[in-house]
This record gives sequence, C-alpha cells and structure tokens, in this order.
Amino acid sequence: MKFDIVIVGAGITACVLAEQLSKQGRSILIIEQRNHIGGNCYDFRNDNNLLIHKYGPHIFHTNKEEVWQYLSNFTDWEPYTHRVLADVEGKLVPIPFNLNSLRDCFPTSLANQLETKLLERFGYGKKVSILDLRKEVDEDLQFLSNYIYEKVFVGYTTKQWDVSPTDLDPSVTGRVPVFISRDNRYFQDKYQSLPRLGYTEMFKNMLDNKNIHILLATNYFDVHQQLQYEKMIFTGKIDTFFDCKFGALPYRDLRFEFIDYNLEHFQEVAQVNYPCNHDYTRITDFSRFYNRTKHFGTSIAKEFSCEHNPLENLSPYYPVPNKESEIIFQKYLSEAKNNENIIFAGRLGNYKYYNMDDAVSKALELVKKI
Ligand SMILES: Cc1cc2nc3c(=O)[nH]c(=O)nc-3n(C[C@H](O)[C@H](O)[C@H](O)COP(=O)(O)OP(=O)(O)OC[C@H]3O[C@@H](n4cnc5c(N)ncnc54)[C@H](O)[C@@H]3O)c2cc1C
Repeated sequence: MKFDIVIVGAGITACVLAEQLSKQGRSILIIEQRNHIGGNCYDFRNDNNLLIHKYGPHIFHTNKEEVWQYLSNFTDWEPYTHRVLADVEGKLVPIPFNLNSLRDCFPTSLANQLETKLLERFGYGKKVSILDLRKEVDEDLQFLSNYIYEKVFVGYTTKQWDVSPTDLDPSVTGRVPVFISRDNRYFQDKYQSLPRLGYTEMFKNMLDNKNIHILLATNYFDVHQQLQYEKMIFTGKIDTFFDCKFGALPYRDLRFEFIDYNLEHFQEVAQVNYPCNHDYTRITDFSRFYNRTKHFGTSIAKEFSCEHNPLENLSPYYPVPNKESEIIFQKYLSEAKNNENIIFAGRLGNYKYYNMDDAVSKALELVKKI
C-alpha cells in the first residue's frame, strides 16, 4: 500500500488534515481502529430519532472566525445554547456558579451581602477560578468560596480525576470558573451551535474526496509494516507509538450508561452535574440538543469517570496534565523530533486537552507547515 500521506486516526484533527491535503492532490490513507469516523466527536441517530454523542456530549463553540467559516463549508448549523445545572443540596443551580446560583443557594439577605462583596472585589462580568477565590481574605468571600469548593467543585473534580484539585494543573482547575454575572450560559463564545445533521455527517462531507481512502476497524500497529508513505501523521497516543519506552502517560477514562425513556424530556437542560451525590458525574439528556427535531422518547447518558487501561483503550478521554506527565511527554517529544517524516497531532499526539475548535485550528496550522 503506497500513499503520499498516511493519517492514523479519523477524529476531527484527521478529518481537517485529510480534507485539506487531499485538495492539494495528495493521496491519503486514513487508518482508524474504531468502526466509524469522527473520533470522540462521533454521533449516530438512535431509535428515538435522537442524535447520540457516543463518547460524551459535544457542543461546538468558538471565537475563532477562521474555524467557524471553515467548518461551515461542510455543515449547516442548529442554533443551540448550552446550559448546565448542578445538584447542590437538592437544588438545581446554574453552572458555572454565578450570581443566579448564589440566589438559589442562600436566603436573600445573605445572597445580597455576598453578591455586593463579589461585585466590589472583582466587578461584574469577571471570571475567577475557584482556587483563586479561596485565597481571598475577606470573611464573606472565604465563606462563599469554601461553600462553592465543597458543594460544587471538590466532589466533581475528585470523582472525575481521582485526585485532590490542588494536585491538578491550573489548566484543568481553571476550566470551570466562578462567574460574577447573571449569564447562565455555559459558554460565552461568539459562535455556539451543533452541526444540523450531526458531527458524523459533517465529517463525511469533509472526507468526500476520491484521494481519501479510509480503513476502519484497523489498528495501525497491526498493519504498519505494510505501509509506504512520504509522511505519516499520527493522531493516536504518542506514548503507545513509542511502545511506552519512557513510561505510560497518565489518562483518565469515562464510561457511559445509556438509557431510553418514554418521555419527551428527562431533565430541564441537556446537562445536569452531580458533584456530591451518585457515582456518576453528570447526566446528558439528548432530547435537549435539537429542539426542532421530532423525536419519539428521550435518551440519556449517565457518565462515570474511571481509570484508564492502556491495554484496552487506544483512545482514552483525558490526558492528566501535571508535572510528572509533562516530564514524560517532553521525552516523547524529543524522540519524535528524530522521526522527520512522522508528525504527531491532535489531542493524543500532543497529549493536551483540545476543544474541537482548538483541534481544527491546530490542524489548519499544521497543513500550512506541511
Ligand atoms: C467527554 C468529552 C466531552 C467533550 N466535549 C467537548 C465539547 O463540548 N466541545 C468541544 O469543543 N470539545 C469537546 N471535547 C473535546 C473533543 O472531543 C476533542 O477536541 C476532539 O475529540 C479532538 O479530536 P482528535 O482528532 O484530536 O482526537 P480523537 O477524536 O480522539 O481522534 C483520535 C482517533 O485516533 C484513533 N486511534 C488512536 N490510536 C489508533 C491506532 N493505533 N490505530 C488506529 N486508530 C487509532 C482513535 O480511535 C480516535 O478515533 C470533549 C472531549 C471529551 C472527552
């Protein structure tokens, strides 16, 4: 098998690379171990006529004009605003924790007092990481930050990562801030939508080029000796590529329990988080994503965090950024520089959490370099 470029993986990174490079007349082979394209953004329509995100809820949001325009070549968009609630002491309150959550959690006089302090200290519209809020010396702000930390943050984070929040990199702990605002939207990006016919259809349109050949249900390591190419782009785990010779990089995995209900909706919003109770971290109600689509019942996913088993899963969910993993990753990165015709890309190749828009913009940048 001889191709100009072999791309390992068929996630969003690979789809952008294949689409762009195939247009330049290069022959591309995509090798994907799963039996479908789309990587972790893959979705499919189920018996309830709902689009199910098999690997966790994916909401497209970006401020990157170039990424928005680029993807709009392959899909129309369904307007969607993501709202998340969390079960805090039996009440469902907006997340990120904001001034409305404050009013839901506390009696009016106390909420007024705390809100005034927050506004005086930070100003309206500011986002503050919970770990920074905990450094405040004011008694009221300490009370509030301890409350949010205990009731919203620590339980969720510990369930998700199985470590104390203080042992996590600020890039993780800062991901869900406290929002000094009445804005209940989970994301504030300029563009926030879902592909009208789903992510998988969007990817099919991107890969619709006679220069692109796709080999599904094929592990690269089973076929690599038969491949000939000028360049290979590897979007799988960088440590696995090098046979974990510097040690395995840590990852965190997820497990989903899908349940169908004979109901129009299961819950008020698409996502409800359970920081302190239940073993699962959150429930996604897929009937809340495409409001205009007729559906027959609803389908939900309960999401559980779990340990990563490197032998079982070639496509883990989350890299675990910390000092130790950074040291290991740097060793693989130096090793990668010795292989001129192999490029590591995507969230697993770069060992970094990317939102979809980051993955697209990184892939577009890479095409320019190639
Ligand atoms: C639970 C969850 C929710 C998320 N929600 C959002 C969201 O709401 N909004 C957002 O913008 N981003 C979200 N993301 C991030 C999004 O999933 C990533 O940006 C995206 O998946 C990155 O794409 P990728 O192509 O780099 O990697 P992937 O999608 O992981 O693709 C890599 C592919 O390589 C394949 N592969 C690996 N090893 C091999 C091998 N040896 N042989 C063959 N194939 C191989 C894998 O099977 C996989 O299909 C979420 C991520 C998670 C985990």
